[in-house]
Amino acid sequence: MKFGVRYRWLIGIVMTAWAMLAAIPAEALAGRALSVCILPAVPGQTATALFRTPSKFDCTTPQSRYGAGDFWVLSQFLPRDISQIPKLSARAGSVWQNRVTLYVRYADGAIRQTGFTSRTSGHHLKIGATLSLTLPPHDAPPVRLLWHVEGAANLRGVVLGPTLATEEQTAESEVLLAALYASFGGMAIALIVYNLALWGALRQAFQPVYCLLVLCLLGYAFSSSAALGQLVPGLDNNVRLRINVLLLAVSASMAVIFARAFFERAVFDGWLRPATTATVAILVTTSIGFVVLAPWQIYWLDRLLSLSYLPLIALVPAILYRAWGVRSSYLWMFAIAWGVPIVFASLRVVNALGLMPWSFWIDNSTMVSMMLEALLSSLAIAYRIRLLSMERDEARVQELAAQLLADTEPLTGLLNRRAFLDRAIGREGDQLLLIADVDHFKRVNDLLGHDGGDEVLRVIARVLRTVVPPGGLVARIGGEEFAILVDAATPIPPDTILEQLRSQRMPFDIAVTASIGCCTGPLLREADWKALYRGADHALFAAKGAGRNRSRNGGLLPIAA
Ligand code: GH3
Ligand code: MG
Ligand code: MG
Repeated sequence: MKFGVRYRWLIGIVMTAWAMLAAIPAEALAGRALSVCILPAVPGQTATALFRTPSKFDCTTPQSRYGAGDFWVLSQFLPRDISQIPKLSARAGSVWQNRVTLYVRYADGAIRQTGFTSRTSGHHLKIGATLSLTLPPHDAPPVRLLWHVEGAANLRGVVLGPTLATEEQTAESEVLLAALYASFGGMAIALIVYNLALWGALRQAFQPVYCLLVLCLLGYAFSSSAALGQLVPGLDNNVRLRINVLLLAVSASMAVIFARAFFERAVFDGWLRPATTATVAILVTTSIGFVVLAPWQIYWLDRLLSLSYLPLIALVPAILYRAWGVRSSYLWMFAIAWGVPIVFASLRVVNALGLMPWSFWIDNSTMVSMMLEALLSSLAIAYRIRLLSMERDEARVQELAAQLLADTEPLTGLLNRRAFLDRAIGREGDQLLLIADVDHFKRVNDLLGHDGGDEVLRVIARVLRTVVPPGGLVARIGGEEFAILVDAATPIPPDTILEQLRSQRMPFDIAVTASIGCCTGPLLREADWKALYRGADHALFAAKGAGRNRSRNGGLLPIAA
């Protein structure tokens, strides 16, 4: 497949936009990163006591190694340059947990607390799915933070990527991420609308599937960005996470179904079709299992869920290899469109399996990569539509050629009888019909042979074509019999035609003449044609009887009742 140059610069723009986004320092989005230490909670512990004994905390083991449960998480001493600023907030990634209490110790020794439960967390949810707690106001600056987290699933950590952000940083991050998600939302809606509109015209099976896919991605973006949580603050954050899990699985499944609808049938022949069905079934079943059963055995459910994405990721090279094998026209477009999301999906799985640390960008990269994917698949669709329209134009040309072939008579290239009648009957106003018949054509054949006779017919056809004005019709309606039809208001004198024929040089310079019978009358219906033809034929008969090489006029027929 030739990959159009025009698409290359578009992809260039998309890649540049992505690079610019990735270059935004994480601090601008989330504030100052804090290092933290963890301690599993046991009954009887108090924040006051724990602030005094930081050595009890484990600062080296990754949090997720501790498994699910209740925990205390202690921050480093807060950086002095930022802790002096009023209205700070502590931010951390939104994860599965039941209750979070944040204790803040201030420079004067006072300890204040704030917090939320999964039911009330909607009020603290920020775009990009971060939970942000404003530190309680106090005269002295804050020096250290201590989170008490109850019911933590601890799949990726208890307090994920904690940061300390100023009011300004929080606002900036909201605006930037809201713009990012809004642009994705706007683009997704535009993609859905234009693909539905195109579907009306093109009726391609992949179009409604694509719209559904984008709709699922939109739903995922809406719930994972926390826009859903902000809109419905009463929504339990753990329920929001369940919705997320389900929407991501459905989106991934739709992507597979889209690939099946988009590629040529041959790509999925054999084992690949059942393999994709099985992959989707595994993914959806596991996700439903997670949604229904969590937090029961949430650790294993989460591992299972992450693993269920592996067959999907493994399928992609198989699909692309097969597409390459069958010389699919859409291979490169598809490879580029899906490359970025697949890389990010793989990163997420690697992270979920504990082989790579969590980062703010891993969570939000899904959105950016989906945006890229949606944009690039819309380019792929545009390319496919271009191929379709090229196919359609080609088919139209062939249809025209076939029509032309069906309407013409092969020896002379003039209209045949049927095509002549199709065009003649129904003409408004009186029509002049001339029937020209070659004189003694049998003799011509005898003299020149059949091929010579054919050549004479071709010469006659050429002459008749030149004498007929635009809008008139010429046809070969019998062996050596021709019909000419013109509007009676602009008649052709038959003798002019005869003169032209006489003066035409014929093969072996033989003299060929013809006789013409004409008749004028209406030609609105089949019956008019019969009358008109009869009149012209009678006149032709008269011309033959009068010695040939002349014309006779059958006169004007009355307008039929
Ligand atoms: P007339 O002046 O009375 O019309 O005499 P004619 O010989 O032209 O008329 P007739 O109808 O008796 O014979 C027509 C001949 O035209 C008979 C047939 O062999 C010949 N003919 C019909 N179609 C073709 C054709 O496609 N090619 C050739 N070479 N001859 C044809
Ligand atoms: Mg004849
Ligand atoms: Mg004849």
